[in-house]
Amino acid sequence: MQETETNLSSPLTALRGVGPALAEKLKRLNLRRVEDLLFLLPLRYEDRTKLYKIGSLKPGMRCLVSGEVLRAETVYRGRRNLLVRIGDGSGQITLRFFYFSRQQQSRFRVGALVSAFGNVRAGPVGVEMVHPEYRVLRPEQSVVVSNTLTPIYPMTEGVQQGRLRNLAGQALAMMKKAPPDELLPQSVRDKYGMPSLVEALILLHEPPPEANLAEIDAGKHPCQLRLCFEELLAHYMSLRNLRDRARKESAVALGGGGDTVARFISGLPYRLTAAQQRVITEITSDLESPHPMMRLIQGDVGSGKTVVAAAACLRAMTCGVQAAVMAPTELLAEQHWQNFCGWFRDFGYELAWLSGSQRPAERRASIEAIASGAARLVIGTHALFQEGVKFKQLALVVIDEQHRFGVHQRMALRDKGVTGGGHPHQLVMTATPIPRTLAMAAYADLDVSVIDELPPGRRAVQTVALPDTRRAEVVGRVRTACKDGQQAYWVCPLIEESDVLDYQAAEASYAMLKEALAPMRVGLVHGRMKATAKEKIMRAFKAGKINVLVATTVIEVGVDVPNASLMIIENAERMGLSQLHQLRGRVGRGAKQSHCVMLYRQPLGQLARERLAVLRDTNDGFLIAQRDLELRGPGELLGTRQTGLPEYRIADLVRDAELMPEVLTSAEMIQRDNPAAEQAIVRRWLGDAYQYGKV
Ligand code: ADP
Ligand code: MG
Repeated sequence: MQETETNLSSPLTALRGVGPALAEKLKRLNLRRVEDLLFLLPLRYEDRTKLYKIGSLKPGMRCLVSGEVLRAETVYRGRRNLLVRIGDGSGQITLRFFYFSRQQQSRFRVGALVSAFGNVRAGPVGVEMVHPEYRVLRPEQSVVVSNTLTPIYPMTEGVQQGRLRNLAGQALAMMKKAPPDELLPQSVRDKYGMPSLVEALILLHEPPPEANLAEIDAGKHPCQLRLCFEELLAHYMSLRNLRDRARKESAVALGGGGDTVARFISGLPYRLTAAQQRVITEITSDLESPHPMMRLIQGDVGSGKTVVAAAACLRAMTCGVQAAVMAPTELLAEQHWQNFCGWFRDFGYELAWLSGSQRPAERRASIEAIASGAARLVIGTHALFQEGVKFKQLALVVIDEQHRFGVHQRMALRDKGVTGGGHPHQLVMTATPIPRTLAMAAYADLDVSVIDELPPGRRAVQTVALPDTRRAEVVGRVRTACKDGQQAYWVCPLIEESDVLDYQAAEASYAMLKEALAPMRVGLVHGRMKATAKEKIMRAFKAGKINVLVATTVIEVGVDVPNASLMIIENAERMGLSQLHQLRGRVGRGAKQSHCVMLYRQPLGQLARERLAVLRDTNDGFLIAQRDLELRGPGELLGTRQTGLPEYRIADLVRDAELMPEVLTSAEMIQRDNPAAEQAIVRRWLGDAYQYGKV
């Protein structure tokens, strides 16, 4: 039988020594094809290019030595130890083994030549190595000294380092024999002094001894930049394709309704900020086009995104089609429901409510109204895109706080809206503003509008961090504020994401505060309460009938009660920066000076200390997001873990986002000059995940 030609895109089983079982394990490292091994870069390197004189060894070194076996013996030190003493004329060292077979032991014959690589430490008699990698050489053999540094790869359970190194070596050999296409245009490479793909891969897998390891460690070596650049390019172009394809689809052009929207805006109790007006104009021009809008609104907490979305919804309703608003939590959906009902009361359109915890009869009625088109605006949680919900003609989808929804969920909702009129327009709102360069990478499938201005009269929330030993003092402060007619939030920690514990912590604080603050009215909301019960408490708090609202972090996003001016956060040391900023954003919405007290439990770790300091020093959401990014990484901040966005293999969005402007320019050039290369780049880096771009 003739063997089929093996190449870089063959499955891993094409390599020597890889059967189905090993292939399965390698899948856990996201390794499927031979090529994937090339993009699994070493974590670090070991220097086995030099043979060290034993006499020159110092504890702490990690190096290669060789010598003649002088003595091999087992001793008991609590357990059996095999001690092999070797010497090279300059000195002696002990190789110490705790686990060894009789066969291994028998090979250390006196006089045999042994090479060993490992960590040097001080032993009872001079220096020693514990469990070094070693080789007993046959008389005619000499010590193998590598020409290149030895790569250490990230490991997965059940795949040993030596095995991985061998496979990577096979892949590299294959690559050298039949080099993959160079897909970056020469002009781009010249501009940034980037090596070719093949040069970059060879250097990073098999660096010469003189390679600049410090630069590689920092992720700034030209060879790494070269790979990061191509990977960023691949992800960007894939998202961009998605967007371009969506752009070509048809949508209902929402040309009318301008007068109605103007009437709505002039009826508001405040004037829109210039930023809000600008974003409304941007949205309007999208909506007027017969192709679906895909726009993201970034705006700090309290910047007034909701009313901007409402203006867009009203336009859709006026044009005779349907709009849907989806929020990530019930609490937030309920709040939107109340706001929108109030705003649109006088416009005569029917609104429908849809949530998971709704009574069946009520739910049925909503679903009917949605299907018949009687309901022009639907507000709810992700229950909105569950099966059984069919729209008559959904023309606009608004998604609030998108980092909690996945790209796939967004796509599902978009597809749900497909009717005779085409795809719905999509408006996504996020209160996690991210730096521009990161937005270029993460939101390449969307147009971005920024509300970079807070409504006038807002004063920065004054923030302090206090040890929780001063809780009594803080309770006193809450009492004084409440007597003065102000309202306060008291937020309890999220304990290991457990609803039950969460609930208990909130219950305990609730009981404590009720007693300490009597006769003030204290309310409690948490994630396990029925929607109606939650809503009742929230209404009472909004109406000022409750002075202090004890809550779990369910109130983190979106909740809006302008009269609340005091925010106490317990166990603030456990929370992330963006989360703390969101919580704090619940106050500072009215005219009164607001305060935020972050209570923490001592001792405070270094990272927690830094986080609290950032919060204390700034109210600027962009700055905070930037710091959060540096401290936590983009996966957490953007929620890419849940979104199913393909992860990066080599690029790191925090470290490499600065490459984005150049990536954009190059993408344009490649798209224009060489569409085939574009496809190949996306396929090389995203492989099967490329499917995502075809949604
Ligand atoms: P977010 O952007 O965090 O979603 P909201 O839409 O909840 O913010 O708005 C926060 C608060 O600011 C609400 O009470 C809202 O009524 C109010 N608001 C919005 N726009 C303005 C404005 N231009 N002037 C004054 N208050 C405004
Ligand atoms: Mg909001």
